[in-house]
Amino acid sequence: MTPEPAGSRSEVPAVEVVGLHVSLDGTPILTGVDLAVAVGEWVTVIGPNGAGKSTLLRAVGGLLRASGVISLFGTESAALRRRERARVVATVAQSPVVPPGMTVLDYVLLGRTPYIPTLGRESAADVAAVHEVLDRLDLTSFHRRELATLSGGERQRVFLARALAQGATLLLLDEPTSALDIGHQQEVLELVDELRREQGLTVLATMHDLSLAGEYADRMALLADGQVAAIGTPSEVLTEHLLSTHYRASVRVVPGAHGPLVVPVRPRP
Ligand code: ADP
Ligand code: MG
Repeated sequence: MTPEPAGSRSEVPAVEVVGLHVSLDGTPILTGVDLAVAVGEWVTVIGPNGAGKSTLLRAVGGLLRASGVISLFGTESAALRRRERARVVATVAQSPVVPPGMTVLDYVLLGRTPYIPTLGRESAADVAAVHEVLDRLDLTSFHRRELATLSGGERQRVFLARALAQGATLLLLDEPTSALDIGHQQEVLELVDELRREQGLTVLATMHDLSLAGEYADRMALLADGQVAAIGTPSEVLTEHLLSTHYRASVRVVPGAHGPLVVPVRPRP
């Protein structure tokens, strides 16, 4: 393999967060978060309810004010205009707001907003990009349906489709599977992983199901008390010690084929 020249693009992380502080309504939520995600990597942030996982993703996506430095592919996020940022990073929120009465096609077309001129209409290329994504995600037959009529798994695929139609190479997925049954959870995560490999996407996700999270992530970051308490491979982060300390949970961690499996065990009375 030819060695990459020093300073080449592949060495620039997709995401670099240094000394991130976020306060919401005067309450400090993140108090010095450092995190780097390499291009093509899948990093999943875990941590107890209220740890600030969604806040971290929103800050990385440029959706809220933060102090500290956030760089996306080597460019400081604060220096990017909204449209420029939207071509780089796409977010699937924890519970996306679904405009009433909107069809799947129109919703996915919203992903093309950063390419449509103000007061302009979508071009044939935008519509083609949307149809390509719908096809890739097996959503073509749904395109005229109202979003509200879809099942949870179908709707989650549509949320993903909108993010992909945006053409961004960094995907921020906030609990992409929490509303899904076990089969649809696997389906969505396998799909994301396939797209990551095919298209060289970078994934920064949050997830609650720790075993499932560990099966897909290259690395995991455990967020607690406003900071990254641990970061590393799933085996390094999913330990009984770290999970009992930060989740106050009684668990056993057993080896699985694709990473550690976390089993809740009822504490002794
Ligand atoms: P997680 O996704 O890890 O469950 P969040 O990032 O959603 O956590 O929230 C982190 C903390 O910030 C929580 O304690 C939550 O109550 C608080 N929080 C979220 N949004 C606001 C807000 N708009 N104003 C004040 N506090 C907020
Ligand atoms: Mg959250």
